[in-house]
Amino acid sequence: MTSQKPKQPSTPHRPSQGNRDFRNRTKHGGKRSGEQKNLPRGTPQPLAGNAAAQPGITLKAGRDKSLLRRHPWIFSGAVERVDGAPHSGDTLPVRDTSGNFLAWAAYNAGSQITARIWSWREEEVIDAEFFRRRISAALEARRALLPSPAGGITSDLAGVFCQPSRMASSSSEGRGEGMNNGARLIHAESDGLPGLVVDRYGDTLVMQVGSAGAEHWRDTIADILQEQCKPACIYERSDSDSRGLEGLEPRNGVLRGALPDNVEVVEHGLRFKVDVAEGQKTGFYLDQRDNRALTETLARDKDVLNCFCYTGGFSLYALRGGAKSVLSIDASGDALRIAEQNLTNNGLDAAHAEWMEADVFQALRKLRDQGRSFDFIILDPPKFAPTAAFAEKAARGYKDINLLAFKLLRPGGLLATYSCSGGISEDLFQKIVAGAALDAGVDAQIIHHLHASADHPVLLSFPEGAYLKGLVLRVAG
Ligand code: SAH
Repeated sequence: MTSQKPKQPSTPHRPSQGNRDFRNRTKHGGKRSGEQKNLPRGTPQPLAGNAAAQPGITLKAGRDKSLLRRHPWIFSGAVERVDGAPHSGDTLPVRDTSGNFLAWAAYNAGSQITARIWSWREEEVIDAEFFRRRISAALEARRALLPSPAGGITSDLAGVFCQPSRMASSSSEGRGEGMNNGARLIHAESDGLPGLVVDRYGDTLVMQVGSAGAEHWRDTIADILQEQCKPACIYERSDSDSRGLEGLEPRNGVLRGALPDNVEVVEHGLRFKVDVAEGQKTGFYLDQRDNRALTETLARDKDVLNCFCYTGGFSLYALRGGAKSVLSIDASGDALRIAEQNLTNNGLDAAHAEWMEADVFQALRKLRDQGRSFDFIILDPPKFAPTAAFAEKAARGYKDINLLAFKLLRPGGLLATYSCSGGISEDLFQKIVAGAALDAGVDAQIIHHLHASADHPVLLSFPEGAYLKGLVLRVAG
């Protein structure tokens, strides 16, 4: 594990911001579409239109349907031509074949998603004020996630959002502040900011930039976050695989302030160390917050098996909920070392916890061959299918681990099973799990349908946003 020394800000990166107004522009001396660096091989290129014309995207006849339903992506196959000579990241008007305005979108010649919509309103100007409005709206929406009625499992998010002048303070005033200090503040397309994710861990913000448009406005966005949230640090984790698909270089480093030695997130009163620089995603899986809380209520007196445990999230909740034993498996030794620290930092009894560094697919077979059994099994694997194209292979992976889990469950036992694959729908996931139960020879009931926490909203017109789905099942006694 790399130690977290305070890091110096990375070289300031201030590309010419996109305040250029393409409404009146006729000429552009930049690179032509398709000349962008690092284009993934075989990326379909929309037909370049008239380089001297007003920059803009014209869709093929009949290919405006998804836009009219307010879906925020334009695939390369829908593009008739790109006029002007725009750079990736530039804001362009999108029009139908008759020239009617449809939207303002961020262009990317190097992606199968040629453009992502910023705004549907022709009169809206995509400038710093636009980002200030969108970011404020996202923060305001988190502010409105009020504490659940007593006893509910919905996260108590009061105090989780950014509060100018309060965020940097370590005081625990306010109801939610002591219990939860982490939240997803910006959830990309679903918050009207395609490609932009911002997670809060205490007074550190982690920003993930995954689209050419968000990349273009990265410094403006960081300035606005600094102004509105006043964090001690904004750290950039723009190093996900999907950046490659956008033709963007990976980036990992401090954007504003200095990274504290020890970043921690408090969730329902449990403390988790977050490895912002080297951990997975932005360092922690905030999306499972409510589902972890549910685990706590189900674990009493049970022998629990937590597969893909990462830094011990579900395991710690199960232990606090009175589990008899918790066996946790993950392939990452770094994650397991943090998990053990988390256990100690929360004063939980290590005698009830066992950690195993192993491949879950193999470990489940070994446990089966050893004749082991459990009362409660949790499966929270990584994304097997980033897109629908990988669905078939992913389905085999999900079926395999769920089948093995059903075989390891005692009669009357519980299985909490998740998929975070955008390419696997909720319906398909349920069918895969049903197939696994059938092959394992068990009858099971669904007792909970689960999703990401409320700070990961799903835009109705963007069903791809509903990537996390889970089921809690009880097998027949
Ligand atoms: N449940 C966790 C998040 C799980 S993320 C939480 O609540 O925080 C998925 C985890 O699966 C990662 O920690 C990753 O290291 C692990 N992983 C990926 N492939 C694996 C494999 N084949 N076997 C074991 N662990 C694996």
